[in-house]
Amino acid sequence: MKIIVDGAKCQGNARCWAQDNEMFNLDDEGYLPSQTIVVPDTPEKQLAARRAVRACPERALALEE
Ligand code: SF4
Repeated sequence: MKIIVDGAKCQGNARCWAQDNEMFNLDDEGYLPSQTIVVPDTPEKQLAARRAVRACPERALALEE
């Protein structure tokens, strides 16, 4: 599973970070830069990833199975 981050949409409200502050590593200004995050293959990380995608109000996160 991967998450594609569209940093141009990110508004820095850290809802993804609240789900998992290791996977969603915000920059010094509190924004998530454009990147592809490879989600570790554990139930906890996969659940956090799905929750973060749902929680992002800007739809900056896209899940790829
Ligand atoms: S939840 Fe969305 S808008 Fe908020 S910091 Fe994360 S990617 Fe950016």
